Amino acid sequence: MERIYNFSAGPAMLPLPVLEQARDELLNWRDSGMSVMEMSHRGKEYSSIIAQAETDLRELMNIPANYKVLFLQGGATLQFAQIPLNLLGDRSADYVVTGAWSKKALKEAQKVGRAQLAASTEDSLYTRLPAASEIKLSPDAAYLHVCTNETVHGVEMHNLDFLPGSVPIVADMSSHILSRPVDVSKYGLIYGGAQKNIGPAGLTLVIVREDLLGKAPVNLPTMLDYAVQAENGSMLNTPPTYSIYIAGLVFQWLKQQGGLAAIAQTNIAKARLLYETIDASSLYHNPVELSCRSRMNIPFTLNQPDLDNAFIAAAKARDILSIKGHKMVGGMRASIYNAMPMAGVEALVTFMKAFEAENE
Ligand SMILES: *Cc1c(COP(=O)(O)O)cnc(C)c1O
Repeated sequence: MERIYNFSAGPAMLPLPVLEQARDELLNWRDSGMSVMEMSHRGKEYSSIIAQAETDLRELMNIPANYKVLFLQGGATLQFAQIPLNLLGDRSADYVVTGAWSKKALKEAQKVGRAQLAASTEDSLYTRLPAASEIKLSPDAAYLHVCTNETVHGVEMHNLDFLPGSVPIVADMSSHILSRPVDVSKYGLIYGGAQKNIGPAGLTLVIVREDLLGKAPVNLPTMLDYAVQAENGSMLNTPPTYSIYIAGLVFQWLKQQGGLAAIAQTNIAKARLLYETIDASSLYHNPVELSCRSRMNIPFTLNQPDLDNAFIAAAKARDILSIKGHKMVGGMRASIYNAMPMAGVEALVTFMKAFEAENE
């Protein structure tokens, strides 16, 4: 069977060589006589799998030694609460709201601690980033939270220059982690659910600077305590073993592609092709300011919304799937993570041009 081009925001496409390797190793991982799914997480085989995954991730992202890498569960959504529970101490936190996900993060933080809105672009319908002058910090902030790629609204922070440097930055990178090099040392904590650009659902990645740990209240449930998770190598209980294994294969695939600088070049080329097609057309429209358009999640509307369903059906006939936009924004959204090949974006823009020509 032919594989389709899956433009889903997540769970999303995985690299084909990763799926093929997982298939080949499914019943018998490297002469162990078992599937990775059947292994004790404390056995020597699995210990080597998780250790290799961490080593490869550290190499890919150039993670400094004073950062812990945690393989957790509960998705980015649990992090919305777990972050303030671990980092606040008796202080508050500041949140920059640039779309649906950072708005949720703030709301959840306010359930478990003191968190305030430092800036919001909601009045611009989340089509831009705030200027430095719009960001109002509170004097006792333990951290400043941002979402560096807003998956629903298609707004990406291409640099951190507009953010104050005085307080640790906590970043939700769920939908663009590993899509480009980042300077980890500029962040206090980086987190993301795996199912967009890392691997299968069920795994949540947290990268945290060691000195930020140790502020959790004594009554914090043990499972939620980063320091305890770090002490136990993310194995306080059974980790999501198979998801970590697949993520490890993705890390190796990324290294074979030439690492994050190389994959970023491909991602830039893919995004450019799609934005150029949108901007050159009179049918399609993307509302985001040029300087903060996402390379990963590209929403676009049709200026005749009554054509939406016909567009989706015609796309499907060309093996282009999961292109329908989020209900908050409407229209379409093409998520083009690392695993979406250039050929998929080319197929999409060829189809978009043909559809526009037919509907003039
Ligand atoms: C998908 C997403 C989330 C939620 O992730 P879960 O793993 O489903 O909890 C949070 N933040 C961003 C930016 C996302 O794209």
